[in-house]
Amino acid sequence: MNRFVYLDNSATTPVKPQVLDAMLPYLKEEYGNPSSIYKKAAASATAVSQARAQVAKALGAEPSEIFFTACGTEADNWAIKGAAFANQKKGMHIISSQIEHHAVLHSLEYLEKQGFSVTYLPVDKEGKVSPEDLQNAITEETILVTIMMANNEIGTIEPIAELARIAKEKNILFHTDAVQAVGSVPVDVKELGVDMLSLSAHKFGGPKGVGALYIKKGTKIDTFMHGGAQERSRRAGTENVAGLAGLGEAISLATGNLSEKATRIEALRNKLIEGVLARIPDSHVNGSLTDRLPGNANFCFRYIEGEALLLRLDAKGVAASSGSACTSGSLDPSHVLLALGLPHEIAHGSLRLSIGEQNTEEDIDYVLEILPGIVQTLRMMSPLYPGN
Ligand code: PLP
Repeated sequence: MNRFVYLDNSATTPVKPQVLDAMLPYLKEEYGNPSSIYKKAAASATAVSQARAQVAKALGAEPSEIFFTACGTEADNWAIKGAAFANQKKGMHIISSQIEHHAVLHSLEYLEKQGFSVTYLPVDKEGKVSPEDLQNAITEETILVTIMMANNEIGTIEPIAELARIAKEKNILFHTDAVQAVGSVPVDVKELGVDMLSLSAHKFGGPKGVGALYIKKGTKIDTFMHGGAQERSRRAGTENVAGLAGLGEAISLATGNLSEKATRIEALRNKLIEGVLARIPDSHVNGSLTDRLPGNANFCFRYIEGEALLLRLDAKGVAASSGSACTSGSLDPSHVLLALGLPHEIAHGSLRLSIGEQNTEEDIDYVLEILPGIVQTLRMMSPLYPGN
C-alpha cells in the first residue's frame, strides 16, 4: 500500500489538534454574537479580543493595530486598495514586484483600471528585489510600496526592512504580504518598519478563511467592508469567532517554538534538495539557497511538464504542487519562474515540495526513492528529451 505524504504546506497546513480544541466551544455552546450586550455573548467577545492580543503579541504590534479579515487575499486587497484610494490626492503611483501573489497583482491591475500607475520591480535570478531598483522607481507621485515578505512558489525572503526604510525616507506607505512568512520565520512589524502586513491562519496550522491585516496606528487607509461597527468600524461583518479563536491559538503555537521548528524543517528541506540534485540529472533548484523559507523546495526538471509530474506523484501518495495552488490547473508557466529569467519550457516543469511540522525523515526518503523514476519515465515520453 502507498504511503500518504503531504508536501504542500505552502498551499495549506493541517489544523493542529490544539487549534481545533480552541475553536470548538464557539461552534457549540458559545454561539453568542460578540456585539451583543447580554452575558451569553461575553465568551465570544472575549475570544475575539484574546485572538487580537495573541496576533498582536506574535507580530510585536498593539492589539488596536490588528484587524481581522476573511483571508489573506482580503487583507492584501484591503491594504492595497484602501491605501491607494485614501491617499490618491497625494499621488497615484504604486510600486510592487513582478513575483507577488495574485491577491496583490490582481488588486493592482484593478487599480490600474481606475487610473493608478504601477511599477512592477524585476527580481534577480534568486527572486530578490533590489533596494536600489526601489530607490530609482520612486517618483513624486508614489504613495504606496507593496512587496511580499516571502514568495509562495520559490520561498525567497525579500529584504523587507531595507526596502521599507527606503519608502519611509520618502514618507511612502509600505505594505508587505507576509502570508507565507508568519509562522515560518520571525516577523516583527517594528523591526521590519512596515505600515501594513497581511497574514492568513491556514498557512500555520489554523483554519481556512481567517486572516488579519496589521495597520500601524495613524496609517491613512479607507474602510474596505461597509456595514456594522465591528473591527472599530473599519471592517464590518459579524466576526468568525471560532475561526479567530483558531487563528489566535495557531499563531501562538507557530511562533512559540519558531527557531527549533525551523531548524528541524530546514534540515529535512536540505536533505530533500541535496538528494534530488544528486539523484536526478538536469535538475535545478529555483530561488535563493540562503534567504529562503525553511520548508520550501522548488525544482525544475528539464524536458517535462509539472502537471504530469504532479499526477504521477499523486498516484504514489505524494501531494505536491507546481507553482502556486492558484495557478496549478492552468497550463500557463509560472509568472514567478519567468521573472527569474527561466525560459518558458523550463518554467513549465516546476515542482514545489513544501515541508511542514508534521513531515518526517521517512517522508523525505520516500520522495527521494520514487521521484527519480517518475522523472525518468516522463522524460522517456517527452519529445523534447534528447535521444527520444
Ligand atoms: N499571499 C500569499 C503569498 C499566499 O501564498 C496566499 C495563499 O496562497 C495568499 C496571499 C492568499 O491567502 P488566502 O488563501 O488566505 O486568501
